[in-house]
Amino acid sequence: MSKFYQEKVTAIHHWTDHLFSFTATRDPGLRFRSGQFVMLGLEVDGRPLMRAYSVASPHYADEIEFFSIKVPDGPLTSRLQHLNVGDEVLISRKPTGTLVLDDLLPGKRLFLFSTGTGLAPFISLLQDPETYERFEQVILLHGVRYEKDLAYREFFTQELPNNEFLGELVQQQLVYYPCVSREPFKHQGRITSLIENEQFYRDTGLEPLNPATDRAMICGSTAMLHDIKDMLEARNFKISPRMGEMGDFVIERAFAD
Ligand SMILES: Cc1cc2nc3c(=O)[nH]c(=O)nc-3n(C[C@H](O)[C@H](O)[C@H](O)COP(=O)(O)OP(=O)(O)OC[C@H]3O[C@@H](n4cnc5c(N)ncnc54)[C@H](O)[C@@H]3O)c2cc1C
Repeated sequence: MSKFYQEKVTAIHHWTDHLFSFTATRDPGLRFRSGQFVMLGLEVDGRPLMRAYSVASPHYADEIEFFSIKVPDGPLTSRLQHLNVGDEVLISRKPTGTLVLDDLLPGKRLFLFSTGTGLAPFISLLQDPETYERFEQVILLHGVRYEKDLAYREFFTQELPNNEFLGELVQQQLVYYPCVSREPFKHQGRITSLIENEQFYRDTGLEPLNPATDRAMICGSTAMLHDIKDMLEARNFKISPRMGEMGDFVIERAFAD
C-alpha cells in the first residue's frame, strides 16, 4: 500500500497573488480531528515532494480543503499554485498535530490566535459543532499585513452565520476579529499590540484574558508564536506540556522559518 492517498483537485480559489485555497477528493479511510495537519504534496520527477499542511475543512466533510501560501521559489508551492481541477495531489495517511480540543482543559471562552495561513486549522475547528459545545464563546483573531490578505473573511461574517446547521451557534458564540498591521484598518496593528494596549477589549467589549475561564490555540510564524505565548504566560496561562496532555493553551507553527 502506498504511503499516500492519491486525490483529485475539485476546486481552486486564488485569494491574492500569494494566497490560494483548494479542495480535493477525500478517501473515506482518511480520518482526522479538526485542527490536525497532514503531509500534502505532488509527485515530482517520480518522487513525492511533501510539506506539512493544516486541514482547513472539518472532520466530517466529504472533501478535504487546504489554504496555502505561494512561495515564488518554494519547491512545492511554486508548483502547487498552478494546480488545475482534475490534477492529482498526494495526501499522507497519518494526520497529527497539537491544535486539538482534547488537549485543552475545560473553559468558557476559546481564543484562536492566527496570522497568515495559520488561520487554516481554525477554519476547520470553527466548522466543528464540538467547538461550540465545549466553549460558550469562541474568539477568532486573524492577523495579516494587508486587508486583501484577510482570506475567508466573508466565510466567517456571511457564510458560517447563515450555515444551515451551525448558523445559530455561530451567531451566538463566534467573535471574529481581523487585524491588519501595514495599512489603515478598523483594527490596525499586531495582535499582541491590540491586546496589550486594550484596543481589542474596547472594540469587542470582551473581558480581559483570564486563565480561570479562557483557553487558547495559537498558529502562526515562530516569532508570532513566541509573542503570544509570552503574553499568555505573563497572565499565568499554562501550555499543554505535550501532545495528549491538557493545558490552558496549545500551539503549532504555521510554517518552518
Ligand atoms: C505543522 C505545519 C502546518 C503547516 N500548514 C500550512 C498550511 O496550512 N498552509 C500553508 O500554506 N503552509 C503550511 N505550512 C508550511 C508548508 O509546510 C510549506 O512550508 C509551504 O507550503 C511552502 O512550501 P514550499 O516547498 O513551497 O517552500 P518551503 O521550502 O517549505 O518554504 C520556503 C520558505 O517560505 C516561507 N513559508 C513557508 N510556508 C509559509 C507560510 N505558510 N506562510 C508564510 N511563509 C511561509 C518560509 O520562510 C520558508 O522558509 C505548514 C507547516 C507546518 C510545519
